[in-house]
Order: sequence, then C-alpha cells, then structure tokens
Amino acid sequence: MTTTDKIDIRHEGMRIGGEIVFTDDVVEVKYPYTDEVIGTVPAGKAEHAAKAFEIAANYKPKLSRYERSQILQRAGELIGERREYLAKWLTLELGICHQHAIYETKRAQDVYQFAASQAMNDDGEIFSCDLTHNGKERKIYTTREPVKAISAITPFNHPLNMVSHKIAPSIATNNCMVCKPTELTPLTAIALADILYEAGLPPEMFQIVTGMPQDIGDEMITNENIDIITFTGGVPVGKIIASKAGYKRQALELGGNDPLIVCNDLTDADLEKAATIAVAGATGNSGQRCTAIKRILVQESVAEKFVPMVLAKAKKIKFGDPQDPETELGCVIHAQAAELFENRVYMAEKQGAKILYHPERRGALLPPIVVDHVPHDSELVMEETFGPIIPIVRVPDNDEEVMAISNSTDFGLSSGVCTNDLNRAIAYINGLDVGTCNIWEQPGYRIEMSPFGGIKDSGNGVKEGVIEAMKFFTNVKTYSLPWP
Ligand code: NAD
Repeated sequence: MTTTDKIDIRHEGMRIGGEIVFTDDVVEVKYPYTDEVIGTVPAGKAEHAAKAFEIAANYKPKLSRYERSQILQRAGELIGERREYLAKWLTLELGICHQHAIYETKRAQDVYQFAASQAMNDDGEIFSCDLTHNGKERKIYTTREPVKAISAITPFNHPLNMVSHKIAPSIATNNCMVCKPTELTPLTAIALADILYEAGLPPEMFQIVTGMPQDIGDEMITNENIDIITFTGGVPVGKIIASKAGYKRQALELGGNDPLIVCNDLTDADLEKAATIAVAGATGNSGQRCTAIKRILVQESVAEKFVPMVLAKAKKIKFGDPQDPETELGCVIHAQAAELFENRVYMAEKQGAKILYHPERRGALLPPIVVDHVPHDSELVMEETFGPIIPIVRVPDNDEEVMAISNSTDFGLSSGVCTNDLNRAIAYINGLDVGTCNIWEQPGYRIEMSPFGGIKDSGNGVKEGVIEAMKFFTNVKTYSLPWP
C-alpha cells in the first residue's frame, strides 16, 4: 500500500479576502520519503498577490487588545487540539519524522501564547517635558500604530513555526499580512490560516497566496501597498529582496552554519554531555534548522575522547520511515538536496576528512553521517549544509585561534560553547561574530519571545521573536498634551 492510499490528497486553494481561490495551473507538493504527490496548491500569479495586498491595505483592523489576545490564545489552543493532524501534514510535506513534527507544533503553540500575553501590554511611553533648560509643563506620549500591509515570505524548513513567527506578532499589533509560503511545503500554512479564521481572525488580516517565485515573487516585494517585508530563507534570495525592496522596511532572517565549540577543560562526563548536545543539534529537524549545528569545533587535546562519544550516539539514532512514531530522524526536503550534502562529505574526504559512519542514503533519507578531521575551510562546513551531517573539525587548544576559525565563514547566526570556565565563556560570548551565543546549549536554543536573528550574511540585524517583531511591525507615533 502506498502513502497516498492511506491519506486524502489535499487540493488546496489560496486564501484571499475570505475566499478560497483556485487556478488552472497547480504546484504539486511531494512527500520526500516516497516522492508521491500528496497535495496541490494554486500556481498563483502577480495579480493574485496584488489583489491580496489591495484588500489588506484597505482593511483597517479595529480589534481591541483583548480581542487580539483572545484570538491568539484560541489559535494556540486549536494548534494543541489539532496537534496530530498538523504533525501528520508536517511529516508528509517536509519529510521530517513524526517526533520532530510534534516538537514543531509545541513551539508554534508557544508563539501564540506569548503573543496573546504581549498583546495585553501597553507598549506606550510617557516623557515629562519639564526636564530641560527650555522645558514646559507638558507630557509627550508614544503609541504604536500598524502599517498598511506586511509581506511575509517563508522557507520550507519550519512550515508551521516560521509562518507563526510572522503572523502572531502581526495580529498582536492589528496588522494585515499577506503570506507567500514556500512552494515546497505550503499546505501547513493554509491549515494554519483556517485555524486562525476559526479562532476569530478577520480573513483580511491574514491571506495566503501560493505559486512559483518567478511568477509571484516580485509582487511580494514591490507591490505599492507593502510597507514591510519580513523574509526568512536563504542568503541568495534574501539578497535579491534587499536589492529590489528599496525604501520598504525589511527583516531578512537568512542562513547559518553554526558551530558547537567543545573546550578542553571538560571532564569525561562533561564530554558526554557535549556529545549529546552535538548530535541532537546536528540532527534535529533533519538538520534543517537555520541554527542546526553545522560544525563541531573540538579542541585537539580532548578530541580523541570526544569523537567516539559522538559516534556512539549517532549510531543509536533510529532513522527511516518518517511516519513511524519510533523514528528519530526522517528525510531532508528532497533527494537532490540529500545528494548535494552527501557529495560535500565526499569532497571533504578527498581533502583529508575521515568518514566514521555512513549507512546508506536512500533518496531523500540521508543518515546522520559522522565525519572526523574535517578541514575547517572545506565546503562541507563553510557553506550551509542543510542536512543531518555531523562534521567534526579538530581545532587548536588556543581559544583565540578557535574564535578566528569560527568567525571565518560568511555566516553569523548563532553558536554554542561547552566550557565550565566562566572567563572562557565570557571571552567566547564577546569574541564570536554571531547573533546568539548559548553556553552549554545548542545554538538553536531560544524561547519564542526572546530576540533572535543573525548578523553578516545570516541577517540584516533585525531581530525576530514575538516582542521584537511587534516593534518592527509598528510605527511609533508621538503626541504631546499640555498638562504636566
Ligand atoms: P529560499 O531562500 O530558497 O526560499 C525562501 C522563500 O523565498 C520561499 O517562499 C521561496 O518561494 C521564496 N523565493 C524564492 N525566490 C524568490 C524571489 N526571487 N522573490 C521572492 N521570493 C522568492 O529558502 P528555503 O530553501 O525555503 O529555506 C531554507 C533557508 O532558510 C536556509 O538557508 C535556512 O537557514 C533559512 N532559514 C533561516 C531562518 C532564520 O531565522 N535565520 C529560519 C529558518 C530558515
């Protein structure tokens, strides 16, 4: 029996102004594990995006803070109630295993819970005006106002959570958003839109258009009704957006190749702990997190002890059928991606790396390949290798040199450091050119409310996370009143 015998293939429409809109041409969505078509979405064109932005710009939301908070709260609850359904479709369109899909639904739930509570906070400020040489008996007040329309363009790797990080702060600030999810995993975004409407969101405040970037991408960047573009995706597309967006405000959350740095002051028990973090961080979400561990930088004097620990943990991972609840590692997005990453491993091997574990790849099912002695400047670790590879780079015992190696790539998203020496921890926090540094944690560790985002090629320094995004999505208006 094939997968499609067991599911109802979803033929979805766009969500534009409360209507479900279909087109003659469709984009097929495939299950990476079997390559079967599991759904279709419309191959929308620029005119569809233009229509959605017109609706968004002409709609002026009047939801009270209480109403916004209630909608967000209810949306989070509905995600909880529909967890199994959402996880099933996350697995089907993305190929990650069921366990990782469940994890994503819980993260998304948190986003709505935080946004619901933030919507209740008054974010205005008050300034007394009798503080200055030429002061007066007045007060200046600030209030935050929504913009005309927000364009959200999202990546394939977190089909639920990335869209949630855009739409929840948008609702919390009474904004109208048009989202174009990726053509690779668009079905979850559509399911999410329906959950939000069910929770009480006016459909003008969140619309979904779908299609191929060459047909609809430019309109998502240049439409005159867009005040803000919030983009999460790869560096090349981020730079295209930056070049076309002109005066529009942009959040560009781009790729990474985050290190986990394992220092030489660790005991055997600590090295075990570090190895657990390393393997989980490299393989979670099939290694398709912008903050996945892409390079394990271990200091020479502890490497001989540390590497076998990593190898043993990688060998224990049960990889295979993504829908089997016991599976701990599923597929990457498609076979071509898996092949590219595997080839980078072979290229590193030619440059001196040693492959310690590589059970067979089957199509998009890429195993947790463990590679040791990876040259720090090999393509495998200089580029973003977006899969569950576990590359170990042996680095000098001198921390300055480790930081220089860590900083030598174009990326600067996040990092993790395992040391018990507070002075060394502080030196790494100060010395790494990244947006985040987690001591004794995966680079990807965050809560959905804390500021998050990278520097260098990983992003333009604008942070996400519910609180930062709410600020970014609003304009501050100041007004003053003639009373002290
Ligand atoms: P991608 O850049 O290929 O695509 C992202 C989105 O851009 C998709 O919706 C795609 O359709 C759209 N797009 C493509 N070309 C376009 C164009 N010319 N104009 C307008 N839109 C266009 O990224 P991806 O492969 O889907 O996602 C993986 C990448 O996202 C990785 O690099 C990952 O690190 C990054 N990412 C970053 C973060 C972060 O917070 N920094 C989070 C998740 C993923």
